[in-house]
Amino acid sequence: MARTDAIVLGAGIVGGSVALHLVKRGLSVALVDRAAPGAATSYGNAGIIEANTLFPPAFPSGFGALLRIALKRAPEANYHAGFLAQVAPWLFAYRRNSAPERLLATMKAMRPLFARAIAEHEALMTEAGAERYLRRTGWLKLYRSDRSFAGTARERALAADFGMPQRVLDTDGVLALEPSLSPVFRHAVFWEQAASVTNPLAVTRAYAARFAALGGVAVTGDAMTLHSAGGKWRVDTAQGPIDADAAVVALGPWGPDLLDRLGLVLPLAVKRGYHRHFRPRGNASLTRPVLDAENGYCLAPMEQGIRLTTGAEFAARDAAPTPVQLDRVMPAATGLFPLGDAVEDVPWMGARPCFADSRPAIGRAPGHPGLWLAYGHGHSGLTLGPVTGRLIAEMMTGASPFCDPSPYSAERFGKA
Ligand SMILES: Cc1cc2nc3c(=O)[nH]c(=O)nc-3n(C[C@H](O)[C@H](O)[C@H](O)COP(=O)(O)OP(=O)(O)OC[C@H]3O[C@@H](n4cnc5c(N)ncnc54)[C@H](O)[C@@H]3O)c2cc1C
Repeated sequence: MARTDAIVLGAGIVGGSVALHLVKRGLSVALVDRAAPGAATSYGNAGIIEANTLFPPAFPSGFGALLRIALKRAPEANYHAGFLAQVAPWLFAYRRNSAPERLLATMKAMRPLFARAIAEHEALMTEAGAERYLRRTGWLKLYRSDRSFAGTARERALAADFGMPQRVLDTDGVLALEPSLSPVFRHAVFWEQAASVTNPLAVTRAYAARFAALGGVAVTGDAMTLHSAGGKWRVDTAQGPIDADAAVVALGPWGPDLLDRLGLVLPLAVKRGYHRHFRPRGNASLTRPVLDAENGYCLAPMEQGIRLTTGAEFAARDAAPTPVQLDRVMPAATGLFPLGDAVEDVPWMGARPCFADSRPAIGRAPGHPGLWLAYGHGHSGLTLGPVTGRLIAEMMTGASPFCDPSPYSAERFGKA
């Protein structure tokens, strides 16, 4: 490359969106990944663009829920016993951050990003010719018991304060929207404003193609080779070394592999998750993602079939897959929707990159001039990719950021 202003490491939905936003602002950008764009975590999510998200997933508060998890009976969570000691400090921090007042603070800190999430996706989809993947049909959350539905009261009241459309539905109301569901639930909240995509991989690839069409260069390379050389950042790629004044780490769950080496140790953990596609039986269909709240799984209609995604598994990122949660939720899922044959022989596994305060790291890497961070988007990386791209591109080019970026600064960990 003749001249490179910025190297973006990682071509998932976050890195791809960052690279596209930078190139749109006239920078010469190299997007470096060891694999094809979108093939990692950004491939396998439930496809929900959660504009109405207020509270992040929280540490379980009741003894019963904890006990079920401890006994490995909970469908929503699993763990590898040998990994618990390693992840314990993170879990304690996560528990602290799940106190009601902290969740409220997180909600306020994250609102500017979530509030713009759909609009930013729509803007990129329009220019990338990817509108066909967007569904504006909302997100349906189902509650089998009065108790779990009652637990949503605080979030619904807050959502009403924010003017977010939501409809509380009974069984008949849900069946009018989704006639293929079985009436195994008592309540539902229909978040009308949420959007979803029918193929997250195709969306990430469309953004990468748009990046290339605007002159960006996608290169195969190993992010682990990043080092400073002659006052610039250098990465070795299949096209030779690339030097730039700025580099952005958008490696999702692999962020620590590089940052630890550079001496920037930030407390990221992963929540692994699984999916599998199923063919619907007969003429059954779904028109929007559906959450079975008590069982912690999602059914999301995708181009590949009905995608069943699981909750969190605490295990080493690279440990062998243990998709026991899929087995645990199958009876509930087949009771809710007529799932037929599995499309793949083996479930997909990915790792949500999570900080314990449920905020990503977006901004400068402390102590490393020219190095920027855009990772740690946890459960909401698909949602927040494009809005992250806008924010960091504004910061890197000296434009006024559309919101105060300080809640996402990595310096918050230094102060903790
Ligand atoms: C089961 C499940 C369901 C989910 N559902 C949703 C949802 O409905 N909505 C939502 O908003 N989010 C959801 N998420 C979260 C979302 O998928 C992630 O937050 C998001 O994909 C993270 O994107 P990323 O670009 O940061 O990481 P990734 O997509 O993992 O991208 C990182 C990239 O870095 C590359 N890389 C790694 N190491 C190197 C190296 N050494 N050299 C070069 N390249 C390297 C990888 O190849 C990869 O392309 C879900 C996650 C899971 C697991």
